Amino acid sequence: MTQVAEPRSGLDAATAIERDRVNHWIGGRRVAGTSGRSGPVYDPATGAVAREVDFASVEEVDAAVAVAKAAFPGWRATSVSKRTDIMFRVRNLVDQHRRELAALLTAEHGKVPSDALGEIARGIENLEFATGIPQHLKGGFSEQASTGVDVYQIRQPLGVVAGITPFNFPAMVPMWMFANAIACANTFILKPSEKDPSASILMAELLQEAGVPDGVFSVVQGDKVAVDRILEHPDIAAVSFVGSTPIARYIYETGTKNGKRVQALGGAKNHMIVLPDADIDMAADAAVSAGYGSAGERCMAIATIIAVGEVADPLVEAIKARLPRVKVGPGTDPSAEMGPLVTRQHRDKVASYLDSGPAQGATVVADGREHPLYKESEGFFLGVSLIDNVTPQMDCYRDEIFGPVLTVMRVKTYDEAIKIINDNPYGNGTAIFTRDGGAARQFQFEVNAGMVGINVPIPVPVAYYSFGGWKNSLFGDLHMYGPEGIQFYTRAKIVTSRWPDPGTSKIDLGFPRTR
Ligand code: NAD
Repeated sequence: MTQVAEPRSGLDAATAIERDRVNHWIGGRRVAGTSGRSGPVYDPATGAVAREVDFASVEEVDAAVAVAKAAFPGWRATSVSKRTDIMFRVRNLVDQHRRELAALLTAEHGKVPSDALGEIARGIENLEFATGIPQHLKGGFSEQASTGVDVYQIRQPLGVVAGITPFNFPAMVPMWMFANAIACANTFILKPSEKDPSASILMAELLQEAGVPDGVFSVVQGDKVAVDRILEHPDIAAVSFVGSTPIARYIYETGTKNGKRVQALGGAKNHMIVLPDADIDMAADAAVSAGYGSAGERCMAIATIIAVGEVADPLVEAIKARLPRVKVGPGTDPSAEMGPLVTRQHRDKVASYLDSGPAQGATVVADGREHPLYKESEGFFLGVSLIDNVTPQMDCYRDEIFGPVLTVMRVKTYDEAIKIINDNPYGNGTAIFTRDGGAARQFQFEVNAGMVGINVPIPVPVAYYSFGGWKNSLFGDLHMYGPEGIQFYTRAKIVTSRWPDPGTSKIDLGFPRTR
């Protein structure tokens, strides 16, 4: 039976060690930074600097790569069943420590505990998928492809691979990457967001406790210096990235120019069409949940409602009626449903759309700057905000706001709605609310987006499918996690083999034929 360690004592165990400074994790231990560079990590609920995070130098990234490279042959030689056993233990340990991990997310990202626990639950799905690695790595075998010749395909790991992750899912997005990367026998280097880095170290400890050998999983904290070294390091074979579109494009262009396999997931502008026949209460509940959950800091958040025909007035009224009931507060308040934004700078940028929107002709229905926590707290709070009568030319539509500002566009027909979505440069998620199966099917058929919800506002695929947007929401060929994740972290080798009897061969300079 699998031996699983006892749960730790709770939040204090992790935060006590991480109180002042978040270090790197190289070679199975914390390594204090030597670059002399670091950055502040805030508690978004109080606005105070909670700790510092080391920023890696080129030499520190090189050290992590060297350790990962040295660990690769041994990990690669480790049997699939042993790696499976370890992935089960990783899954169980993360599950046991989910509250501790969630507390770190709340402390540094600001998301409320229920949301943080949801993030970890979706991350665990990826660990569970990786426990099926014997099945996922099965190759194909063609017996007697030619006379006495068999052909078979195996998938082998790439070597050292790296993941660069955003602030908004400090636990789940790394799990999207490292679960499959490690299970496929690669060694993995994580460069987490510098805004909320502590979860990376707790995950490193849990991986070690689960039996992942030292050097198989490393963490380099930092900024562009670390990222650029990852992109140019000759011993890194592949880079997975999740973050904003300009950086995703840069990662893809630079990484591929340096000969790496790259998947770079970018930003989003997710539309939710509401057709006239939709259930208004269901659509309004979905809009509020998906627009303001995690303070709108989700790449799959609904950013824009497209109300078709006469549904607009009752829908906006129904959303507006729900807004006063959304409880904004710090994660330490058990009744809080929506926390602060990640930094003051980001909060202020999000709030600026409440000025530019009306200046460009939109109508502010709810202004989150009226919330007492915006006015009185040092934390980075902004209340729920709603802007109506938005058009495609406005900044609040063109930009990814990434905050609790939901916008509403009004159109007369479904055709106008689908044109808006398909003309948008992003294509991450999208949703339609209707009771008409034919309309929903037509939408799924023709919408240019990677993930589609039908009466589901945040259609994040389960871990046995893959996650990815279209257009400027993803650069690269393969989506993340699930079957395409396995493909990304392995390369195919095709073996053509025969075992002829001695004395049966002859010279033949012709191109080998199969018939
Ligand atoms: P970001 O692009 O600012 O940062 C992402 C990562 O890139 C971080 O690790 C950061 O340190 C690094 N980075 C930042 N600037 C860099 C630079 N100039 N050069 C090299 N590296 C740099 O993104 P963020 O603000 O942390 O996250 C929010 C963004 O991520 C949003 O746009 C959101 O839509 C997107 N996102 C997308 C998905 C998806 O699956 N498509 C998921 C989550 C978040």
